[in-house]
Amino acid sequence: MAQPAQGSGIRIGRIFGIPIYLHTSWFIIFALITLSLRTQFTSQHPGWTSAQHWALGIITSVLFFASVIFHELSHSVVAKHYRITVQSITLFVFGGLAKIERDPSSAMQEFKIAIAGPLSSLFLAGCFWMVQHYLQGSEMVTAAAYWLAEINFVLAIFNLVPGFPLDGGRILRGIAWAITGDFTRASRIASTSGSLFAYFMIFVGIWQALSGNWVGGLWMAFIGWFLLEAARESFAHVVIRNTLLGVRAEDIMTPEIPTVGRDMTLEEYVHEVLRTGRRCHVVAGDDHPYGLVTLQSARSVPKGEWHTTSIQAVMVPFDRVHSAARDEPALRILERMQTEDVNQMPVVSEGRVVGMIGRDAILRVLQARLQAGRLTTT
Ligand SMILES: [Zn+2]
Repeated sequence: MAQPAQGSGIRIGRIFGIPIYLHTSWFIIFALITLSLRTQFTSQHPGWTSAQHWALGIITSVLFFASVIFHELSHSVVAKHYRITVQSITLFVFGGLAKIERDPSSAMQEFKIAIAGPLSSLFLAGCFWMVQHYLQGSEMVTAAAYWLAEINFVLAIFNLVPGFPLDGGRILRGIAWAITGDFTRASRIASTSGSLFAYFMIFVGIWQALSGNWVGGLWMAFIGWFLLEAARESFAHVVIRNTLLGVRAEDIMTPEIPTVGRDMTLEEYVHEVLRTGRRCHVVAGDDHPYGLVTLQSARSVPKGEWHTTSIQAVMVPFDRVHSAARDEPALRILERMQTEDVNQMPVVSEGRVVGMIGRDAILRVLQARLQAGRLTTT
């Protein structure tokens, strides 16, 4: 998926406790916007020096991305008001993205969090318009403020398009949710509408490209393709969320816990893995487990040293193992497995391992429930 992963890229700072990141793809759009601004200023103000064209291009571009951060922060401030944690804000090639930890719990929350963004962009458009209108002292300030007023206005309007994943799609979902009382149905409406808009953008983009506007047309088609992917992905997320609703760790864990001793060599361990087909073991201690060892950890040591290296040297000590609680929702475990990049988690209760959960087990439950759902609804 084209969306940047959480926390990927360069961290540039923290506002209201929310870390702000620049994804590597952002540098492309920053360079493109700066270059096009410089070209625009050069043709509109041929009297300025080349240094002035460049400097104003860069400053205006930076102010534009500051406006995008302001937009994302406004969503985040409202989300925080409802005690929804905002994990990060990332600038990437298609703009800004605020990662929030969970979906809002009511239609009204959804609506308010979504509408805060376009309202903040409209507010900024108004501020820049006032600057260009009332501060006529410097030609450069006026030129930058005029462009910033225009782009923030366009940003507000574009984001109000009623299709997921745009803010307008969330506003639509909030309204549909309030009317139908059904979050899944509301999500389906918003993402269908988002997909239609995305197809429309791809179509217009290709048509533009074929009529000679190559760069603008392809860019538009590209954004449309991104929106299409995002609309699909966000709906898939809703389906997964609903399907796993009510499933907890203890419902899907396997009670048998494969264990090994810490003195075992890696050579013996790999034999054990080959014999049993299990790739993850608890390293047993006298009264509490010492750690977790996986085939992956054995692979971190060159094969030639397997017969002289003990499990103890490569295992993850138990206090650093990602574990699940008995009553933890399966969806949360799946999300943590994705962010922490692990495939197995021990289920721990009162300091003891009571079961194991694999990512494949959660996916099997998901698949079975989806198939069962299809059988019962037809
Ligand atoms: Zn927004």
